Amino acid sequence: MRTDDVLNCAVLVGDGIGPEVVPVALDTAERALAAQGITLAPEYLPFGRDAIDSHGGALPESTLAALDGHEFMVVGPHDSASYPGEHRGGPAPGAVLRKRLGLYANLRPAQAIPGIPATAPDIDLLIVRENSEGLYADRNMAVGSGEFMPTPDVALAVGLITREASERIAERAFEAARARRGHVTVVHKANVLKLTTGLFRDACYQVARRFPDVTVDQQHVDAMAALLVRRPADFDVLVTENLFGDILSDLAAELAGSLGLASSINASDAQVMAQAAHGAAPDIAGRNVADPIAMIGSVASALDWYAAAHRDRRFAVAGASMRAAISATVSAGVATPDVGGTASTAEFHERLREVL
Ligand code: ATP
Repeated sequence: MRTDDVLNCAVLVGDGIGPEVVPVALDTAERALAAQGITLAPEYLPFGRDAIDSHGGALPESTLAALDGHEFMVVGPHDSASYPGEHRGGPAPGAVLRKRLGLYANLRPAQAIPGIPATAPDIDLLIVRENSEGLYADRNMAVGSGEFMPTPDVALAVGLITREASERIAERAFEAARARRGHVTVVHKANVLKLTTGLFRDACYQVARRFPDVTVDQQHVDAMAALLVRRPADFDVLVTENLFGDILSDLAAELAGSLGLASSINASDAQVMAQAAHGAAPDIAGRNVADPIAMIGSVASALDWYAAAHRDRRFAVAGASMRAAISATVSAGVATPDVGGTASTAEFHERLREVL
């Protein structure tokens, strides 16, 4: 078998609904890839609550070392709040992964699925979120935390914006726009955070000059939130810093239907990680009602990244057929309770297998 015909994949199943949605996504990917002559070869690595019991930590060093050698990763959610005392309160495993692997780009599409009730049925946009700096205290410092308290009654947070990271994320946004409707909106708050988000805006506009075929405009983040509700269909690609992107992507996900539909990838230039935007959903874990669409869509988006990186369209075709299978399943009236359906996760999976 040619090495091009095997997709090696690190799998971190995770906590909460991870064991329910990750296997559905992997099975869907396996079938879609097989139709393109590609074999999915998963390597399961310890992660989350189970890894605490078996390896003494939620993110064992052996898992981190193995991930260094993987280009393609599928990661379920973690539920740090449920960990025993000494394993709680430290940096979230997801943040450790993103920082260690340098996964600086978080791509979060928001698109309604016909058949699923949506506040904004015509929304079809991609949020390109800078993932390595901003106000995120767990990743914007080389040593120590970006949040600190000089006295018990005073708390400070460091916001980090660099030209290099801003230009790098802008490049990803303009490239993505080329493959979509060719428009980028730079989201910032440079009327108040003049130096930091002003630098971000200016760096994005600098990059825009290299993409004359892509149109560009800008919005303040507060206005952007309002416009997403008022006229979501007018936006194609939004590029923004870490915190703004986190908030806007949850808003966009809900406008498109539900957080349970929100797919997401974290990527560098060398690695991609499929990880749905939602968390471990402990309130529904183990009840066979979790919506697997976000996780399936995340793996499909990671296949798009892989197709572009390897100039091999078969991976993108597989991703597209995974999305088509979701649409066909939902169109047949099969959906989980979060989007108004009555199907269990297993029934949704079963129907998916009939169409793919
Ligand atoms: P985190 O901070 O880890 O991202 P969170 O506190 O934002 O997590 P989630 O775990 O994402 O919260 O859950 C938020 C709500 O959305 C919960 O009511 C949960 O049941 C629901 N939810 C999340 N994901 C899904 C899913 N895939 N299917 C159905 N419901 C979901």
